[in-house]
Amino acid sequence: MQERELRATRFSVIGGARSGLAVASLLRSRGAEVFVSEQAAAERSAELRSVLDRLGVACEFGGHTARATEADVVVVSPGVSSDAPIVREALSRGCSVVSELEVASWFWRGPIVAITGTNGKTTTTALTGRMLSDARIPSVVAGNIGRAFSAVAEQTRGDEVAVLEVSSFQLDHVRTFRPAVAVLLNITPDHLDRYGHSFERYIASKMRIIERQKEGDALIYNADDEVTRQAVERSVPAGVRLLPFGLSRRPAEGAFEEDGMLKLSMAEGTTDVLAVEAISIPGIHNRYNAMAATLAARLCGAGVASLRSTLVNFKGVEHRLEFVRDRAGVKFVNDSKATNVDSVWYALQSFASPSFCFWGAGQGKRLQPARAPGAHAREGGGRHRGIRRYGTVLLRFHRPTTTASSMAEAVRIAAGSAVGGDIVLLSPACASFDWFENYEHRGRVFKELVMNL
Ligand code: ADP
Repeated sequence: MQERELRATRFSVIGGARSGLAVASLLRSRGAEVFVSEQAAAERSAELRSVLDRLGVACEFGGHTARATEADVVVVSPGVSSDAPIVREALSRGCSVVSELEVASWFWRGPIVAITGTNGKTTTTALTGRMLSDARIPSVVAGNIGRAFSAVAEQTRGDEVAVLEVSSFQLDHVRTFRPAVAVLLNITPDHLDRYGHSFERYIASKMRIIERQKEGDALIYNADDEVTRQAVERSVPAGVRLLPFGLSRRPAEGAFEEDGMLKLSMAEGTTDVLAVEAISIPGIHNRYNAMAATLAARLCGAGVASLRSTLVNFKGVEHRLEFVRDRAGVKFVNDSKATNVDSVWYALQSFASPSFCFWGAGQGKRLQPARAPGAHAREGGGRHRGIRRYGTVLLRFHRPTTTASSMAEAVRIAAGSAVGGDIVLLSPACASFDWFENYEHRGRVFKELVMNL
C-alpha cells in the first residue's frame, strides 16, 4: 500500500497483545489512522493504553464495540479466531479483513521464507534462522516464534531474509502475502475447533501459504505426509518450484535419506549433507525438520559445509524434547510444547524406551478420541483416553499406570521409581490452563522440580 493510500485508510486492529501492538505501531508510523480494540479489561491493560496514547492510537478495552468495525481495514491479531463474532461483524459491514502477517508483509522488501505445519514450526524456523546466521546471510526470525513480523518490519532495514513461523490463523486473512520460499511441514488434525471442526477447512487454510506464489517461488513440503502431499498436488500454482522431502523417496529436487545420510538433490546434482545420526536434535520428526530447514537455507544461499556445522551444533528450542538433566543414569526430558497427540507420538519414537511419560497436566483442550495418545502408544492402549482430565497422569510404560495430583508429586514418583537407563519424559498431549499459564510455565516448573531433586 502506498503512503498516500495508507494516510487515507482507517485501520482497526482487533487484539492489543504483542502482534496487535506491533502492527498498530507500524501502521501509525507510516501515517495511518489506527484504532485498537482489546478484549481484556482496562484495568489489566494500563501499560498498553499508555503505549498507545504515546503513539497517538485511539483504543477501547473490555470488548469490541461498533467502533471497532468503523474502519476500512480490520486487522486481526493471530489470537483472534476467524469465527469470532467481531470478525463476522467486520465482514458483514464490508470491511476488508486482513491478518497482522499480511500487513507486515506490505512493508517488507526482502525475500520471505514462511514456515507452517501442524507441528515443528518453531523448531524448523529457529533452525533455518540459525543456518542463515551461521552462513552470514542477513536475516531475521519472526512470526509466532517471538517477535511479531510487524515489529521487525518497523525496526529493521527490511531487505534481509525474513524467516517466519506462520500459523494457519494468520494465513486465514492474507491477500497479497507471497513467500519466495514456503515450507509445509505436515498437516494433522489440531485446532479444528477454530475451523468449524472441519479438517478440510484447516487444510485449505494451511494451503493459503502458496496461494499467491508465482513462477520462480519455491515450495518445500513433506512428501511422506499423505495429507500434505495430496493438498500440494491439488493446489500448487503453475511454475512454482517443488522441493519435496521424505525419508526414502529420491525426488528430482528436494531432500531425502539414503544409506544413513541426509542428502540434497538439486539442479547441480546430489549432495551428501551429513550422517543422519550426527544431527544434534533427536527423533524422526527432527530429521524431517532438519531436511526442511536445510532445503530452505540452501535456497537462500547457505553453503553445504555451513549447513552441516549448524545441524551438528543446533541444540534445539526450549520445551521441545529439551534435555534437562542426567541423574544417576536417569535422563529427564522436557517436551512441554507437545500439546497435541502427534507430537507425543514423535516424542515417544525419539527414545528407545521412555520408561515414564507424563500425559496431561490439569485440564486441556479436548482430544479427538481417535487420536488420543492411547491409539499411538503401544503399551498405553485406549484405556488411558479419559484420565487426562483428572490431573497429571504418570504413565509407566511396561508397568502399571499411576496418577499423581500435581506436577511435583509426578516428578517425585517418577524420580523415585526410575532406574539407570530410564528416560523420564514430560510430553503431555494437551494444554493445562487450570494448572499453568502456558506450556512455557509448565516446562519451567518441571525443569525446576527436576533440578531440585
Ligand atoms: P510448533 O511450533 O509447530 O508447535 P514445535 O517445533 O514447537 O512446533 O514442536 C512442538 C512439538 O511437536 C514438540 O513437542 C515436538 O517434539 C513435536 N514436533 C516437532 N517437530 C515435529 C514434526 N515435524 N512432526 C511431528 N511432531 C513434531
